[in-house]
Amino acid sequence: MTKPILFNFTDAELTDFVIQSGQPKFRAKQIREWLMRGAPDFASMKNLPEILRNDLDKSAQTLPVKIVKKLQSADGETTKFLLELFDGEQIECVLMRTTYGNSVCVSSQAGCAMGCKFCASTLLGLKRNLTANEIFAQILVAQWELRSDKFSDKPIRPNGDANNNDVSHIVIMGTGEPLQNTENVIDFIERANQDMGIGWRRITVSTCGIVPGIDRLIEWGRPINLAISLHAPTDELRSKIMPINNKYKLSEVMDAAWRFTDLHNRQLMIEYILLGKKDENGETVLYNATPEYAEKLSELLDGKNCMVNLIPWNAVDERDFASPSGNAVHRFQDILIKNGIHTRIRRERGTDIGSACGQLRLNNAKKQN
Ligand code: SF4
Repeated sequence: MTKPILFNFTDAELTDFVIQSGQPKFRAKQIREWLMRGAPDFASMKNLPEILRNDLDKSAQTLPVKIVKKLQSADGETTKFLLELFDGEQIECVLMRTTYGNSVCVSSQAGCAMGCKFCASTLLGLKRNLTANEIFAQILVAQWELRSDKFSDKPIRPNGDANNNDVSHIVIMGTGEPLQNTENVIDFIERANQDMGIGWRRITVSTCGIVPGIDRLIEWGRPINLAISLHAPTDELRSKIMPINNKYKLSEVMDAAWRFTDLHNRQLMIEYILLGKKDENGETVLYNATPEYAEKLSELLDGKNCMVNLIPWNAVDERDFASPSGNAVHRFQDILIKNGIHTRIRRERGTDIGSACGQLRLNNAKKQN
């Protein structure tokens, strides 16, 4: 029988559980405090009597996720977690210590149904949506890591939070399409704001372009950030690498995105993975990263309040693409800049720990088969 997960209990349920275990009521509050700090086990709950900790260890589980693997980049800036859910499904989350604060990239689904041709997360299909608790628990894993972190004493964060040991930013950009799980994502964001004090403007939802989902965010009305995984500036090219474009065309996606950003007076984030291909001689040729596509992207975004994040492709063995050269990446960026488009090249983080999204989960699944 699977053990009950105490984090999933309401306060009243947790109190009942504690009383039925023969403990005074105030233990429920103590346990809740530890859970909200991300305690991975009962042994960590130092103000509980040892006998209770041992009993709880036999009868219950703390969080709805368990760490299967933790990888730390050599520079100490990036920690990647492979996490297991109660039913054996696995997800990834990534903690990034940056100059502006501690950012966590969370997954919203186990797997993904969207089928983007460059992505590892979709190779095993969609397994299921995550609950709001399962998304929240990823933040708590990161929070626990930060509090016990040998890297958190670094005197960085010139523009960021006074407290180096707190999660300050959330990006919902890990495995899965958040707007295929919109209500649980909204529930999670509300709680991250209320329970952890993370401001709306420090939370970003990234979508491949689910128009009804963007409309739902508009109706919800919270001034979070929106990112569009664009990756191609024309319908013809986009439909080849992102099947969702056959359902929601570029113009519909961009219209919905501008409606969202106009409402909140926010800058739209555009994610653009720069892809190459190998030709018959084994040479890398540009795919969506040609100067022509840079011009078309500039036309699409002309005069709009947006920031284009250029992401040189991170190799995924199972995918038939190649990374463009540094020169090609800079040439693409230069064209955007010349055309007045705000852009930056996303710094590759944690390349020594395999940072392509979904790669860790995929590699682990392959080992188990
Ligand atoms: S890029 Fe995002 S939406 Fe596309 S398959 Fe990967 S996880 Fe899904």
